[in-house]
Amino acid sequence: MNVPELYGSRVFNDDVMRQKLPKDVYRSLTNTIATGGVIDPAIAGTVATAMKDWAIEKGATHFTHWFQPLSGVTAEKHDAFISPLGDKVIMEFSGKELIKGESDASSFPSGGLRATFEARGYTAWDPASYAFVKDGTLYIPTAFCSYTGEALDTKTPLLRSMDALNVQALSILRLFGDMTTSRVCATVGAEQEYFLVNKAYFDRRKDLSYCGRTLFGAPAPKGQEMEDHYFGPIKPKVAAFMDELDEELWKLGINAKTEHNEAAPAQHELAPIYATTNMAVDQNLIIMEHMRLIAERHGLVCLLHEKPYAGVNGSGKHNNWSLSTDAGKNLVDPGKTPRENTRFLLFLAAIVRAVDEYQDLLRMSVAYPGNDHRLGGFEAPPAIISMFLGEEMEDIVNSIVEERVYEDHKAATMNLGIPSVPTFRKDTTDRNRTSPFAFTGNKFEFRSLGSSQNIAMPNVVINTAVASVLCDMADTLEAAVAGGEDFSAAVAKVIKDTLTAHKRIIYNGNGYSQEWMAEAARRGLSNLRTTVESCEVLTSEKSVELFTRFGVLSSVELHARQEILLENYAKVLNIEAQTMILMASRQIIPAVESYITKLGKAARAKLDIMGDNAACVRMERELMTRLSELNTAAYDAVAALRQADREAMAAGDAHAVAVTFRDKVVPAMASLRAPVDEMETLVSSEDWPLPTYGEIMHKQ
Ligand code: ADP
Ligand code: MG
Repeated sequence: MNVPELYGSRVFNDDVMRQKLPKDVYRSLTNTIATGGVIDPAIAGTVATAMKDWAIEKGATHFTHWFQPLSGVTAEKHDAFISPLGDKVIMEFSGKELIKGESDASSFPSGGLRATFEARGYTAWDPASYAFVKDGTLYIPTAFCSYTGEALDTKTPLLRSMDALNVQALSILRLFGDMTTSRVCATVGAEQEYFLVNKAYFDRRKDLSYCGRTLFGAPAPKGQEMEDHYFGPIKPKVAAFMDELDEELWKLGINAKTEHNEAAPAQHELAPIYATTNMAVDQNLIIMEHMRLIAERHGLVCLLHEKPYAGVNGSGKHNNWSLSTDAGKNLVDPGKTPRENTRFLLFLAAIVRAVDEYQDLLRMSVAYPGNDHRLGGFEAPPAIISMFLGEEMEDIVNSIVEERVYEDHKAATMNLGIPSVPTFRKDTTDRNRTSPFAFTGNKFEFRSLGSSQNIAMPNVVINTAVASVLCDMADTLEAAVAGGEDFSAAVAKVIKDTLTAHKRIIYNGNGYSQEWMAEAARRGLSNLRTTVESCEVLTSEKSVELFTRFGVLSSVELHARQEILLENYAKVLNIEAQTMILMASRQIIPAVESYITKLGKAARAKLDIMGDNAACVRMERELMTRLSELNTAAYDAVAALRQADREAMAAGDAHAVAVTFRDKVVPAMASLRAPVDEMETLVSSEDWPLPTYGEIMHKQ
């Protein structure tokens, strides 16, 4: 495999543009991309034709505007390039078709934004995310909005938030005398966790097929306690999957870089090299899609659910975020002497304040039913948002707040005591795996994201919150300078005041501990345990103010999104409840009844041979008694779950429905699971109707 040749071969990237476009068109287009501006309609036709010719060379016959509606998955509608000419056809693609698409939007979630009689929706090309060819189709990344201009997708607010961040970060840089930087952009690298399960087992479990997670299942004798899977050797079948995945992603210009086994059995991770935010979002969606697709070719199924199995780790997605200038300078890189690096400290202070001030919005941005199993569940980061800065940075923050002299952390060297291994420089901070928002040297890692989610919204919140704080800071600094104050003194004061006011969000300890729950409550940090209460944040006065300040999301759009999140919560739980009812009534309960009958027959046969000897059938009697009790309990729990589900569906508005699902249906599901999981441990493996955790997790 010639990787450099393969790499990006299906992407209409900068290189291809330079080759295929006339010089002036190329210059105009790259300028649009670099500045995040609007494309000049005069060049659209030329770009479209070049794109089409290139795509046809790559085997394409169709094109599609590719967008991200609020359903959580991507959408596409394929159109052939053909255009009739007499009895023949020619391949055509116009500038208009490239820039704008029109589609019937009536079946996408809109949260009441769009009545079905005015179902027109538009897609608009995002030139800053490269088009690519996949399966004979040219994919054009687009934003999606309604006839009346409201965002119906995740990309529109993302692009708006990137723009806000750029403008505000630039105004700070100008105050520092930087007149050359022309664009500041957040860069994102999303580390993707996932499980792989053998397709034969997957097909035999309705919960995996319908819900992407197991709803029943007793723990296997061996889970992850031996810690032998993390970074362990990769099985050949999985390695073959990873190789093919890398190859496909490389063709699409995605820098799939690191692959390893994760903590739980059958759990893995892929990390790409970071890209600008909108590109990183698109690439993460492509990664998830290809994981699913390629797994099937290897007799596997890729589970992206946050919690496929109870009792072992779930899957998250670490969102690494930093700020970069068009010259490639990382604004959150502290350099060698962070205490003297005022520009860095100002950005650091801004991010600390943004995370503290908008902690509940950050929490909201990762809230959906799948992730409820992780956050607040003593796993992954807790539902409480806090920041880890590491020893060195926390020391710096304290020295600023307490106005004391800062003792430089000399980078220590590490000597392993092995003569042939050279000593190496130790990082000045250790890792902290429990922190939701960790500074990791030159980037921030937001770790609360769930594995299946579109990463756009968390980045919308980070970008907008940081933009808002930078805007306030720029105002303060401009006023100080206008009032005759010394700029350096004014900056030092802003840094100190900000860190003093928002220091409570910094926590370097164990985020899973009970002490932290109590300590966080004392500090007044919010602890939103489930999706339902997290959703309420979206339309609070403070949120509306933040998002409307830079036109990222309007009040109407926020209300619509809240409605969609709540509706989605109810839909997911309803599907889970219905699946449990189905599996229990039609598979598990009947199987246990048959097994009880089998035990009864065995007992009868023994009695026939051994005469009236109660001792010889003690085992059958005890097992039958316990299984009868449990199966009756399961039967009653099914009825109770049916009742709770009906009640929830009829509870009223979206909020009331979601609340009832959380308070009535979730506990009713747990009450059904308990007897079933116990029965699994009592019924012979031959008579149990489902593949067990042991099989699914240990036999890929
Ligand atoms: P760690 O070992 O701390 O997880 P890595 O260097 O392995 O860090 O990077 C993890 C992820 O962070 C990768 O996806 C990587 O591309 C991304 N990343 C690294 N630097 C940056 C940055 N400046 N901005 C955004 N993401 C970054
Ligand atoms: Mg990481």
